[in-house]
Amino acid sequence: MRLVLIGPPGAGKGTQAEFISARYHIPAISTGVLFREHVATGTNLGQAAHRYMEAGELVPDEVTIEMVSERLDEKDAANGFLLDGFPRTVPQAEVLDEQLTLRGVKLDVVVQLEVATDEVIRRISGRRICHGCGRVWHVDFNPTKVDGVCDKCGGELFQREDDQPATVRNRLEVFFEQTAPLIDFYGAQGKLVTVDAMGPVDEITTRLLTALAERA
Ligand code: ADP
Ligand code: AMP
Repeated sequence: MRLVLIGPPGAGKGTQAEFISARYHIPAISTGVLFREHVATGTNLGQAAHRYMEAGELVPDEVTIEMVSERLDEKDAANGFLLDGFPRTVPQAEVLDEQLTLRGVKLDVVVQLEVATDEVIRRISGRRICHGCGRVWHVDFNPTKVDGVCDKCGGELFQREDDQPATVRNRLEVFFEQTAPLIDFYGAQGKLVTVDAMGPVDEITTRLLTALAERA
């Protein structure tokens, strides 16, 4: 299974990616997570990406494409993968198609998570991430047992710097301007499946896995 999850920031892509990854035994590759790791370890790529991320802008396509291409060459992605947060522009999608063709494979399905904008704002404003294991929590919708401490690994939780309201507004604009055109792009390829991503996490997981099973 080779699939892409598309949706606005805060739609629940990372949350659902975990379940799809477990069900299909494929790595969930999030460009946001990869960029944050580069920033945290201070690599050249991280230094180049950071100013775009903190402003809620997209990192330039060349930088992003090279990082994803290297990741797709790793062994665990040979038999399938889930991409979360990539592609995010039509040029990224075109290069992805070219690169997969060179590898003799293709995308099976692109899932669009559809969520109301006021709901993504609620989800983003309460999002907290574990420093230790990277797990994503929410202060109201998916709280930890002890405030600020990860249930899974005991790590400390933090709020992403780009989850502040001013940056979130820009990220949503960027999504509608630069990423939403991918819906038509993949619709024209006959690969698009739209899933209603409003409601509880487990109900959305069921809808997603059912939609994927119908395509497989
Ligand atoms: P994305 O990867 O699309 O940016 P996340 O998976 O990080 O989104 O989810 C954003 C926030 O919303 C997180 O705090 C997560 O715990 C929470 N969340 C995810 N799915 C739901 C849901 N169905 N209902 C309520 N909160 C959710
Ligand atoms: P995310 O974790 O998906 O919300 O991504 C966080 C930030 O990383 C984005 O706001 C961008 O600055 C950057 N980023 C992630 N994926 C991409 C991408 N495909 N293209 C360009 N920038 C990206």
